[in-house]
Amino acid sequence: MKIENLMVTGGCGFIGSNFIRYLLEEANFAGRIVNVDKLTYAGNPENLAGLAEKFGERYCFEKADICDADRMKAIFAEYEIDAVCHFAAESHVDRSIRRPESFIQTNIVGTFNLLELARARGDRFQIFHHVSTDEVYGSLGPEGYFTEETPYRPNSPYSASKASSDHLVRAYHVTYGLPITLSNCSNNYGPYQFPEKLIPLIVINALEGKTLPVYGDGKNVRDWLYVRDHCEAIWTIMNSGRRGETYNVGGQSEMENIAIVRLICDILDEVRPAGDGKSRQELITFVADRPGHDHRYAIDFTKLNAELKWSPRESFTTGLRRTINWYLDNPGWIDRIRSGAYAAWIDEQYGDS
Ligand code: NAD
Repeated sequence: MKIENLMVTGGCGFIGSNFIRYLLEEANFAGRIVNVDKLTYAGNPENLAGLAEKFGERYCFEKADICDADRMKAIFAEYEIDAVCHFAAESHVDRSIRRPESFIQTNIVGTFNLLELARARGDRFQIFHHVSTDEVYGSLGPEGYFTEETPYRPNSPYSASKASSDHLVRAYHVTYGLPITLSNCSNNYGPYQFPEKLIPLIVINALEGKTLPVYGDGKNVRDWLYVRDHCEAIWTIMNSGRRGETYNVGGQSEMENIAIVRLICDILDEVRPAGDGKSRQELITFVADRPGHDHRYAIDFTKLNAELKWSPRESFTTGLRRTINWYLDNPGWIDRIRSGAYAAWIDEQYGDS
């Protein structure tokens, strides 16, 4: 497979921006990347600073909404798109509980638009990769793992909208023969993650001496994967995965939320001791649990390992240190996000279109 014009949707978000950097800076992707992003509150072009200068026409950016079918049609035609890696989504569970509408629009209707446009490209279209989550499988008890055969049982508007898009993607393969692959991945962490998610939220609050909110008793378990490992898995699946197949991607790093928060406090106390010399664990505050909070997610990625020889490279402890160091080294990035300065910058750069 030789992709010439790869559309990456949601490329200004956390995983999408890491993926674009991975393709251009590490994987020696030789084609052109067309990053399509609406720049919601979660999309930050600063995550990709320097790429246009360094890679010229091999990196293009289009500020566009995947729900806008006419605009997307024009972009597909202009760039002769022959592959899509689809990250764009509303991605925060708490926001989906408060305001589910945009999750239905972007995650379901937006995915449908892209599938139709990919289908219209006929034989010129090579691969549609859909990036999804393990949350579609629902919640586990203390034992067991999600496999690709686990029945879907999403519990939040976010996971239900992702489940819906997964079904559409798979159906386009079965019904129309569209070349697709799917990946369902556990929680990611790493550089450029928007500070509403657990790890950056805790790092930043802890550095500022603010309370560290933990849902319920903190005993909810998640599996964690370093974002670069996820990017490598996606690229491996796009290139070598069987068309029409789903691959689960996991980090083999199950952790209780409270254990992660404590670990972050300990690492920060070691590398950047608090001014008053106190342990940052004193900032931990338990707050009312999230409605419908899934107890445990854990991924069995045997299929991806057996078929495509992928396994995570980064251990959770080294990955977490690497991530914390990135946030410590990039206070300007954090300040601009938190002050809203980057929203003003986006308006100036790209207008209100
Ligand atoms: P993110 O919220 O950081 O980024 C989402 C990006 O999509 C943003 O840049 C946003 O501007 C863009 N976007 C949103 N609506 C859009 C629209 N209508 N049109 C165009 N662009 C739009 O999300 P993320 O954490 O990087 O997640 C990326 C994908 O990976 C999502 O599909 C998510 O479901 C999936 N996923 C995430 C995780 C995780 O731990 N973060 C784990 C498994 C799967």
